[in-house]
Amino acid sequence: MSVVAEIMCSHCGAPISFETGEIIATCKYCGYTAVIETGKAFTFEHSMLQNKYDQIKIEELTRNWMRAGFLKPTDLAKKAKIMEKNLVYLPFWVVSAEAESIYKGIFERITPPIVKEGKIKKKYDWLIIARKATEFPTREYDVPLIGKIPYDFRKIEAFAKILNSEIDKREAVESAKHQIEEHHHYLVQQDVDKIIEMKDKIEISQTVYLHAPIWFIKHQYKGEIYQLLIDGATGTIIKGDIPSTGFGIF
Ligand SMILES: [Zn+2]
Repeated sequence: MSVVAEIMCSHCGAPISFETGEIIATCKYCGYTAVIETGKAFTFEHSMLQNKYDQIKIEELTRNWMRAGFLKPTDLAKKAKIMEKNLVYLPFWVVSAEAESIYKGIFERITPPIVKEGKIKKKYDWLIIARKATEFPTREYDVPLIGKIPYDFRKIEAFAKILNSEIDKREAVESAKHQIEEHHHYLVQQDVDKIIEMKDKIEISQTVYLHAPIWFIKHQYKGEIYQLLIDGATGTIIKGDIPSTGFGIF
């Protein structure tokens, strides 16, 4: 359920509207970012990535993607009808962490099995989407952090939609830790067949609230609707549904 409500922007006085479940909201008139519950300023780092594409260029990218790759129907670029091209600034939490896992396990791929010990140490800029119901392939999105700048509402296109955060910083950090642990668990399982013990240590160095420009493209091909997600900062295709080329279905 999404009920729109408003608080007053304590910087410019304009109404900041937000929906049920949103925790952090940004004023579209002045860029002031507030914690909804208290109305007070959001005091952590708020960054953004800049979109470099307009509707025409994004359509070009879409058609190029449709033309490339042998898995796609050959007439896709010609026949697909683009229904929607929406630029959305999606909210993310970027949790920078150094994670170390020390483990001991049994390696059963040789006879007799041996006990093996090891250590994994890695640095991450772990991405957590700050929306609960938005379907987004976070692990497939290589967020171009190099282009990160302080959030500036003047750099946001009038036609773009900005989504607010539904997850607070603490929750984002917890999710990131949990996901990193799961990831390390997965990595350890590549090395040993049975884990005897495993100890993780995760140190968070920084957590940044980030708005990233993502183009949501919807196109129609042979009566079906397909979606394409494009990174507006780099033009990279994040994910695209590919119509089946299978014969004899109809
Ligand atoms: Zn304002």
